[in-house]
Amino acid sequence: MAAYIVLLGPPGSGKGTQAKLLTDEVGIPQVSTGDMFRAMKTQDTPLARKVQQIMAEGKLVPDDVTIEIVKERLAQSDCSKGALLDGFPRTVPQAEALDKLLEESFHSQVTIVPLLSITVEEAVRRISGRRGCPQCGALYHVEFNPPREMGKCDHDGAKLVQRDDDRPEVVRERYQVYLDNTAPLINYYRDRGLLVELDAVQPIEVITAELADTIRQRTKE
Ligand code: ADP
Ligand code: ADP
Repeated sequence: MAAYIVLLGPPGSGKGTQAKLLTDEVGIPQVSTGDMFRAMKTQDTPLARKVQQIMAEGKLVPDDVTIEIVKERLAQSDCSKGALLDGFPRTVPQAEALDKLLEESFHSQVTIVPLLSITVEEAVRRISGRRGCPQCGALYHVEFNPPREMGKCDHDGAKLVQRDDDRPEVVRERYQVYLDNTAPLINYYRDRGLLVELDAVQPIEVITAELADTIRQRTKE
């Protein structure tokens, strides 16, 4: 039975970091809508330009566009055992569309929804120091999770970069967008018995171990 893990939490709560670490542990790929939208940067189409503008402002890409890219992604062969969904769903209509898609296309359903919560101050602290590798996607924090050599990826030595939407004022906007649009998913999944709350303010590896345990338990049931 395929496992569909929905990582829920505000910007900076560690969804991407944990998804990358868990991919090896649980053997299913990370599906990040944020990464997929960022990959559209190289395209010069009206849709790609609109998506870039929305992201720069910290708003949400429309549901129909988002649902369509997830539909295509989950149909790819590497997702045959499921996916670690990072940053999707982010609205109630997206969650409903995901339920429908899993049911109709894969005779499946969401397996578990780990919730990572942090305050807006912590989000700003984490995101201001976030750096990523443009080659392999590894994530770092200048203070909380630094690379061995300043500014360079541990895996491939590439020069680390900061995202353009990681400025404090955009982070605050994204956090508010989370409260308005995504936080209602907490009750949506709690009502379905899928929510598992974790303490997101612990060392990265402690959270990974807790998540891996929780996922293993649930996929055995
Ligand atoms: P973070 O985890 O730091 O909030 P992401 O990389 O998940 O950032 O997302 C970056 C941006 O991509 C969001 O601010 C939003 O504009 C867009 N985005 C990502 N996922 C979704 C989604 N599921 N629905 C709508 N917009 C999305
Ligand atoms: P999200 O995908 O939820 O937006 P990220 O995984 O990108 O969050 O993490 C945001 C920043 O916080 C990154 O710089 C990352 O290295 C750092 N970070 C992630 N988890 C922790 C943690 N448990 N403690 C301290 N910093 C963390």
